[in-house]
Amino acid sequence: MSNVDQKVPFTEAVEAFDPLLGFEVHVELSTKSKMFCACPTEFGAEPNTQVCPVCLGLPGSMPVVNQDAIESTIKIGLALNCKIAESSRFARKNYFYPDMPKDYQISQYDEPICYDGYLDVEVPLEDGTKKSVRVEIERVHMEEDTGKLTHAGGATGRIQGADYSIVDYNRAGVPLIEIVTKVVPDTGALAPEVGRAYVTQLRDLVRGLKVSDVRMEQGSLRCDANVSLMPAGTSEWGTRTETKNVNSFKSVEQAIRSEIERQAAVLQSGGKVVQETRHYQETSGTTTSGREKTDAEDYRYFPEPDLVPVEPSAEWIEELRAGLPEAPAKRVARLQEAWGLSDFDMQSVVNAGALDVVEETVAAGVDQAAARKWWLGELARRANEQGVEIDQVGVTPADVAGIVALIDEGKINDKLAREVIDGVASGEGTPAEVVEARGLGVVSDDGPLIEAIDQALADNPDVVEKLREGNMQPVGVIIGAVMKATRGQADAGRARELIIERLG
Ligand code: ZN
Ligand code: MN
Repeated sequence: MSNVDQKVPFTEAVEAFDPLLGFEVHVELSTKSKMFCACPTEFGAEPNTQVCPVCLGLPGSMPVVNQDAIESTIKIGLALNCKIAESSRFARKNYFYPDMPKDYQISQYDEPICYDGYLDVEVPLEDGTKKSVRVEIERVHMEEDTGKLTHAGGATGRIQGADYSIVDYNRAGVPLIEIVTKVVPDTGALAPEVGRAYVTQLRDLVRGLKVSDVRMEQGSLRCDANVSLMPAGTSEWGTRTETKNVNSFKSVEQAIRSEIERQAAVLQSGGKVVQETRHYQETSGTTTSGREKTDAEDYRYFPEPDLVPVEPSAEWIEELRAGLPEAPAKRVARLQEAWGLSDFDMQSVVNAGALDVVEETVAAGVDQAAARKWWLGELARRANEQGVEIDQVGVTPADVAGIVALIDEGKINDKLAREVIDGVASGEGTPAEVVEARGLGVVSDDGPLIEAIDQALADNPDVVEKLREGNMQPVGVIIGAVMKATRGQADAGRARELIIERLG
């Protein structure tokens, strides 16, 4: 048998089979302390400095539940339209792995804190429209993260071929929320896009609650995607595979597509899909076999005897419900309407992660078109270059409002605005202060402008000839020369007027 998985072309695969999807998403909460102890959760500390007897699983140590983690979990559950259990329990999930010193993970099993919810996902279609797909949520439960193993000495950083492994327990005990969907049926050829849209919109929803950074690339949001195939026209569920820890939205889409193509080939050649975990390979865009999947019974779950049940009061739940922010999909629809944007233009704002900053800039009195122009243009470019989120480029919505005001007042032009952005981003102060300190104002005094124009006209007699014949097309050459001579500080509009004047 060949090592390379056979595949059936995607369109053929989804004609012969109906894909069934399922998702397990882990979200690391951004609480100050861990799930069951007071250790800090800050990322990037010296290895094994944020540990105590509880998160190291030392005998005799006793866990205590983090109230903030419960609150964050209930918020997520409510935002996902879940019911909140009057009483829920923690359970021990037993298995051995070196990054888990207790040899069990404290999780929740048959009594999760939130259950029976849904998320209505807007799936973008190729023709620019959207289709709404309801993804039903089975449960949202609390658990603790494990430590982090690093495999050293090998070429790939994987355990195979490594000389030794080292473990950092700082992450052990960090609060994790697991969000499990029910089976998502009837997605057909849209299955990969539904997967991507679900994880993206779940991220937006959790981010809006401000309970996690939900950064896929940093592992604070991790997605496992389950895929199985059902012969078209039947209701026989196939065997599912679980592709673990897919770490970007695009990869979720690609992993589902790849699994559908692979499973279809297995089934069409008369084979059986193996129930297993799989790993998504960024380089090839396909999944490879991991381990055969353990059934829940193998974990020997039993109630955690060291923790009392979680019993949130109805008043507290209602208080949290009342404090929930507007749902992301509703907010997008409301802003799109208010700004009068097409689906495409609105999607560009959402895709750039610029919704918050554009909204705040508009709230600061800037026209939506100008706000979008700066955030989706110059500032998005900088964020991209620096590999950071758009709200981390060192320029705030208030700064953009200040820059746009300076442009509207004719004090700077777009080119100077980019220099102002440089100054603001490097901490030189507000836009007005940067203009002042760097001496950036537009030259609107006609004297130096006329001087520069006359020089440019003298230097370009062929252009002057065309302009005099009424062909205004090459006027840009003169304006360009004037801009160069004034080091970009000329007011282009005024320069144009003066050029026409000087030509008589
Ligand atoms: Zn601890
Ligand atoms: Mn889990």
